[in-house]
Amino acid sequence: MSEQIHGSPLVPRLRGFGSNIFAEMSALATAEGAINLGQGFPDTDGPAEVLEAAVDAIHEGHNQYPPVRGIPVLREAIATHQRNRYGLTWDLETEIVVTAGANEAMTATILATCESGDEVLLIEPAFDSYWVAIAMAGAKPVAVPLTGPDQRVDVERLAASVTDRTRLIIVNSPHNPSGRVFDADELEGIATIARERDLLVVTDEVYEHLTFDDAVHLPIATLPGMRERTISISSAGKTFSVTGWKIGWACAPAPLVQAVQTVKQFMTFVNGAPFQYAIARGLLLPPERFEQIRADLQRGRDLLVPGLQAAGLQVLPSQGTYFVTADISPLGETDGHEFCRSLPRRCGVAAVPSQVFYADPYPRPLVRFAVCKQPEVLAEAADRLAGLNLPT
Ligand code: PMP
Repeated sequence: MSEQIHGSPLVPRLRGFGSNIFAEMSALATAEGAINLGQGFPDTDGPAEVLEAAVDAIHEGHNQYPPVRGIPVLREAIATHQRNRYGLTWDLETEIVVTAGANEAMTATILATCESGDEVLLIEPAFDSYWVAIAMAGAKPVAVPLTGPDQRVDVERLAASVTDRTRLIIVNSPHNPSGRVFDADELEGIATIARERDLLVVTDEVYEHLTFDDAVHLPIATLPGMRERTISISSAGKTFSVTGWKIGWACAPAPLVQAVQTVKQFMTFVNGAPFQYAIARGLLLPPERFEQIRADLQRGRDLLVPGLQAAGLQVLPSQGTYFVTADISPLGETDGHEFCRSLPRRCGVAAVPSQVFYADPYPRPLVRFAVCKQPEVLAEAADRLAGLNLPT
């Protein structure tokens, strides 16, 4: 019998990544007619002028391959946005590359900079695609958990985890799934490790505009000595509620951008020509529009949280992102996956278990809920959750 045909065709290092919890929970939500707060995508479209700019770009004939680094007006808008918001300056020609979402930027960065056997430090829980990209590179993930009730970065443990093989530190803030926005102390701690041990840092800042209350997003590249060793990644999907457009970018010193581009051009080459024009428009929207987007999402969080609390869950503080994490232990439950499997049937709401963001398969009592939905949807979800333990 042919091994090629009857054995698993997937290389062993990728075999652990087959299941897709987001698809499983979405299918359950559909089957039960539940409100789907599992996967993080908004149920409304983004700013009208951004949507119109995409339509205009199609009609104006921007439908062929754009330049591999992205269209100049988008690179210019990225540079202007970075300068105005964070005081970071990037050269348009050499220090910015547009990618197929933040995911491609992250995967290309890992493939471009890590040899087989290299180690990548990440903060756990960590967005699921990082683990896969590290495995694709044949590199080894070294995960350091957030600690304590405030889910803070354990800088000492991070420092102790660096070895001669460590190449990269991945920093995702605002952080999915915890909703933490890392503060200056945490980021300075990470930066010190990177400088002292001569490591590259790759950031995932896709929620850069989506912070709550008084939390402030601080790009690690703004810290002393960090611009030269950081690949700063972001994307447009979350900010402008256009997650299907997949327009992302990486900003870094020229040799790093060149390295990322070398991989990127043989994965997708280019993507989304008309959407690139639209995002150029979006990034130049006035600050009050970004504030409105931020405030709307915060209102979403504030609508859902009381429902989770009324259901008896312990809600962990969310300072940003599309998400809120809740601890189900007060209900006497220990396994988030089991809980999420039963939740649509029990109360008509779907969520995802946070354990998919951890390397080990052990059950955890943490569940992630998306708050990027319309107010009436979140209010209804909150009502349904509040009735979770009531006899029916
Ligand atoms: N990073 C994080 C932390 C995310 O939550 C997501 C989307 N869920 C992405 C990256 C993917 O971004 P994009 O769609 O721009 O590739």
